[in-house]
Amino acid sequence: MEYRELVRSLVEIVGEDYVSDNPEELYIYARDSGTEGPRRVDCVAMPRTVQEVQGIVLLANERCIPVTPMGANLTLNGLALPNKGGLVLDMKRMDRILELNRMARYVVVEAGVTQGMLGSYLEKNSPDLEHSRPEAPAMATVVGNIMIRGHGYLSLRYGNNAHMTNGMEVVLPTGEICNIGSLSVSPWPFCKGPLPDLTGLFCGWHGTTGIVTKLSLKLFPRRRLLDVVGFICTDLELIPELLRAITHTDMADNVFVIGSALADARGPVQFITISITGDLEEELEYKRAVFRKMAAEFGDGSGTVKFMKDVPDLLKTRFVEKPPFVSPALAADFDKGGGYRYCGAILPTWQIPSGWKKGMDIARRHHKHYFYGIQVLGYGHSVMFGFVYTFNRADRSSVRDTSDAMKETNTMVLELGGIPWKAEASAQSDIVARMDANTLGLITRIRKVLDPNGIMNPGNWEV
Ligand SMILES: Cc1cc2nc3c(=O)[nH]c(=O)nc-3n(C[C@H](O)[C@H](O)[C@H](O)COP(=O)(O)OP(=O)(O)OC[C@H]3O[C@@H](n4cnc5c(N)ncnc54)[C@H](O)[C@@H]3O)c2cc1C
Repeated sequence: MEYRELVRSLVEIVGEDYVSDNPEELYIYARDSGTEGPRRVDCVAMPRTVQEVQGIVLLANERCIPVTPMGANLTLNGLALPNKGGLVLDMKRMDRILELNRMARYVVVEAGVTQGMLGSYLEKNSPDLEHSRPEAPAMATVVGNIMIRGHGYLSLRYGNNAHMTNGMEVVLPTGEICNIGSLSVSPWPFCKGPLPDLTGLFCGWHGTTGIVTKLSLKLFPRRRLLDVVGFICTDLELIPELLRAITHTDMADNVFVIGSALADARGPVQFITISITGDLEEELEYKRAVFRKMAAEFGDGSGTVKFMKDVPDLLKTRFVEKPPFVSPALAADFDKGGGYRYCGAILPTWQIPSGWKKGMDIARRHHKHYFYGIQVLGYGHSVMFGFVYTFNRADRSSVRDTSDAMKETNTMVLELGGIPWKAEASAQSDIVARMDANTLGLITRIRKVLDPNGIMNPGNWEV
């Protein structure tokens, strides 16, 4: 009854076509493509304007109804699924690109703008600029990605994508509309300003501190030419030092390390792909020569690191794509209703060999196909180590095995001093359980102040 009444009030805010409590429609809002089970969703609303979002939040507050914002729901870890029922706020109708500023290199997008939309828009309106696009499917939203501190192909130079926002417009859990960054003082959202950095109150909080309705995103110069060079490394222990040497050149635009169970059968062979860009062919040729020389001299020329004279076309075409298609998804057996999940671990670079060995061990014990892809972030300040497990959705034991492997991997990552990224609710509990008590107290107090009724995506970042 309570929800019937809520639906009527929501209709007054967003219109009849954009509210639903039909079980058929709620079905798709109740699950994602990972292994987290379905959740209870009581109704869904699709706002078009910030005022509509505000109206919904005020209503939800009045009735203490949980609100979970959803972009494309593509984290694979259930982060946009309600933990405690209530209302899903589907942001897809807020899909306008509001401003492009070529001089200060930023673009302002609404919360439903997808990576694909922004990519095509820039291609057409400013092909000399690009944004740090993740490898996620094109329908993933720019804002959803920043809310989980995701990363893209410019993250080697500039750190994770949350570093690339100039500010945002947010509807706070109590309904106030707030401008964060220079927009709070100036007509232009061109920087965070010499102000307290309040973007940190929203990035990484998984929608528990407010609903971002628009965001100013930094753009970067796009070079005309792109190529990929590759190394093969047969000594796992050399990888951290090798990555340090590669990033020291300041010539790599993106660096991935890839390994798989197949590689393990023949010994630990790692493929390292290095994206290079330039405006002149001579520039690329110079960079190729630098990396060729590095491979020849690395490890005292012992031959453990080899320059791939020709990166195979299959690999090359995938890496010259923007975003690259490294795709762990390739490891999934879709013919068998397959899916995949990954623990994206933010690790210190020196823990790569241990992560690799322990990850293999977990995979073997769970009879999992094992694949990993490591993306270097911010000049090697950290890496995102993706431990990927595939499963057959039609087979319950396969789904359960993957969930168990994920749990063990999360624990292993924490023991290595790393932090699982876009952690599912249970892994968030593991993280906060290890957190320094005063920091956890601070997080709890911030949430209490911002969201006194505890309506925003509850069940996240809680013990
Ligand atoms: C094949 C594949 C490859 C991937 N590769 C990458 C990659 O290279 N890099 C990467 O970073 N990620 C990657 N991902 C993970 C994920 O898909 C992306 O990070 C994606 O951008 C998340 O966006 P989304 O729209 O799906 O967010 P959602 O899953 O809808 O939301 C993410 C979180 O943000 C919250 N949220 C959403 N919108 C708002 C809002 N407006 N205000 C407040 N909170 C909000 C949600 O409640 C949720 O907690 C990949 C996923 C897949 C399936």
